[in-house]
Order: sequence, then structure tokens, then C-alpha cells
Amino acid sequence: MLDLICPNCKSGLSRESGGAVCGRCGSIYEESNGIIRFVKADNFYEGRFGAGRGNTNNVLELARKIYSAIAVSVEGLRVEHERLYKKLKSNKRKINVLDIGCGGGKTSLKPSVNYYVVGLDLSLSSLFNAKKIYDEVYCASAFSMPFGDNTFDCVCSFDLMGHIPLEKKELFISEVRRVLKLAGLTFHYIEVDSPKGYNNWAKKYPSLYQRHFVDLEGHIGLEYYKNVMQRFERNGFELLRHKGIAKFVLPPGEFSKRFNNEYKKKNALIKALALLDGLIASNTMTKVLSGIMLKPFSLFLDPLISDDYSGLLYVAFKKE
Ligand SMILES: [Zn+2]
Repeated sequence: MLDLICPNCKSGLSRESGGAVCGRCGSIYEESNGIIRFVKADNFYEGRFGAGRGNTNNVLELARKIYSAIAVSVEGLRVEHERLYKKLKSNKRKINVLDIGCGGGKTSLKPSVNYYVVGLDLSLSSLFNAKKIYDEVYCASAFSMPFGDNTFDCVCSFDLMGHIPLEKKELFISEVRRVLKLAGLTFHYIEVDSPKGYNNWAKKYPSLYQRHFVDLEGHIGLEYYKNVMQRFERNGFELLRHKGIAKFVLPPGEFSKRFNNEYKKKNALIKALALLDGLIASNTMTKVLSGIMLKPFSLFLDPLISDDYSGLLYVAFKKE
């Protein structure tokens, strides 16, 4: 078990049955179903992502998993990620890995003889699932994590940074830096904003943009790819690898999720595309098949398009 610190006063916590207690400021952090809570229930994130995981006997869920495994491995990202991840391996001891905003946990980060994996999230119901995969999980804020300085060899996040408000990004990155060891690696899959045609068009209707692009999934902090890179570099990280994804072709269902609503009335082409994408995504079989068929197009087109047009960014940095 990792040593924990008090998010309130930063001194060491002692673990007791049913939670953890701070000897200095007197804060008590209670357990809920075996998970120590450092924050109250979050209205937005509780149960939103990763809570429904684990019904592997469900055929649809299995199809979805196969689809995402194909999508990720074809993209070459999993290979890239695993290569860097494996570089961390040490013969002497386990590598400590932290997954911030872990949701229901990720199979690509599975603990093993080499990796000791810790998850952190705001949603307890998601953490119940992550707990089945990871070594330890905590319900805590990413801005004040209950871990000491230089604890982890690797800190990662998947689809988290777009959910962090602009004014808190620096705080998040400095917190990542604090818990990461010197020369430790940090990986992030980050949803980014881009000057793509339909993005710029969507922004012409601010209230619709707010409702269907920002509020829908909590994307309150989308930034252009270059701004994201600069933030890490400003905070003393060395760039090891970056890759822009989803530049031209979006995964099935993504377009209709944003445009199959009031936006349809504004433009006939948007309406046609939103209806078509909605139809494809409404059936798991067509969704999976079309996703596989579209993949070669994005593999061929993405390298020809500037990273500025990415919808998702993969970055790997080293703490200097
Ligand atoms: Zn304290």
C-alpha cells in the first residue's frame, strides 16, 4: 500500500480501519465500500463514465470492446504507448503507475509483476469497477492528490484534460509533476479543440455549442493542440512523443452526438451527415463495421493533415 498524505495540510496520514486520519489537522477520510474518499460525491461525474463496465457476458459490450481494441491498435497508439510503458520496466522493483481520472480502469494498464497501478477518480461507482483491475484506487481531486512528492514512475490520463477548466490546467500539470519521480514519464490522451470547418461553424451558435459540445460530456477546457504542448514544456517536461488523432474521420456516432439536435435546422449538409451518422451508430453491428471500414481512410489521410486539426492528442513527456 502507498503512503498517503492529507490533501488539506500535506502531512502523512495514518490508515485506520474504515479510512485514514490526519494527525496534524484532524481531517478524517472515510471509506465507502473499501475506497477512501477525499472528496464529496461529484454531481456531474458520479456514474457518468466507466460505471457500467464489467458485464462481459453482454454481446454488445463485447463488440464495443473489440471495436475499440481494433481502433486503438490499428492507430498504432497502443503499440507506441506499450513501447514507452515497457521502457519503464525495472528489474529491481515494481513500477508505480498512476491513472488520473481512471473511470472504470483500463486493461492496457493492467497491474502485473512489473507494474503497480493506482487509480484516482471523482466517481465512486466507476472506482468500484477500477478496483477489480487496479492495485489501489482513491476517490480524490486531481488538483490535490493524496500522494507524496516523487511517488510515481509513470502518471497518465485518458480523456481527462479536456474536462479541466482553463484556469486550473497549470495546477493540474504541477500536481502531476509533484507526484512524478525525476525522469518519470507522463502519458496523456487529450481531447483538443481545432479550427476544423464544422467546429468553427458550430461556434457561430454559442448557446448550442455550449450545450452540445461543452456541457454534453463536460468538455469545459478544450484547447488547441499547441497550447496543450506549451503548458507541459513550460512546466519543465521534455517532449518524447506526440501524435494527433481523429483529424478527418471521426469514430461513428461522434458527429451525430454533437449535431443530431437543434443544429440540424441550421444547415442541410449538417442535417444529412448527422442523420446518416446517427443511423449508423444506432446499431452496434453497423457501428463496428463502419468504424473498421473508415479506419484505412483516417490512416491514409491523417499523416497528410496538420496536427492543428486533431480531435485527440496523444503525448508522452519526461520530467526533467
Ligand atoms: Zn491534515
